[in-house]
Amino acid sequence: MSERIVVGAALVEDGRLLAARRSAPAELAGRWELPGGKVEPGETADAALARELREELGVDAEVSGRVPGEWPLRAPYVLQVWTARLRPGSAAPEPLQDHDALRWLGPDEIWDVHWLDQDVPAVRQALAHLGAV
Ligand code: C5P
Repeated sequence: MSERIVVGAALVEDGRLLAARRSAPAELAGRWELPGGKVEPGETADAALARELREELGVDAEVSGRVPGEWPLRAPYVLQVWTARLRPGSAAPEPLQDHDALRWLGPDEIWDVHWLDQDVPAVRQALAHLGAV
């Protein structure tokens, strides 16, 4: 089966990175991730990410650059990460779907949360790409 892409957001505001705690499925609940989700057929990755951020967090986000790299999830999925910002006038993020908590993490707090295993290298690469949060 060909690769399916899951997009995650390195959503940054005031030098802090948004982390979202999953509420489902059971095996992932309680672990933290870069919010995002699956790219649907016919959808571009950046449009998919903007849609997922709207659905999951209720925000109006501008998706900008892709963080270089790709991280394997359970087959056939792979994780790609894009940087994103809230557009002026966007609502503040709320855990509407799939999550039960959000945290804006400053540079000293990034590793205070229990990230999903597969998100750890993606977060590290996103931080390097952003040149520290
Ligand atoms: O959010 P959604 O359920 O659409 O995500 C699809 C899959 O991608 C999830 O099962 C989750 O394991 C994975 N994922 C991930 N890291 C992220 C976002 C999603 O591992 N940052």
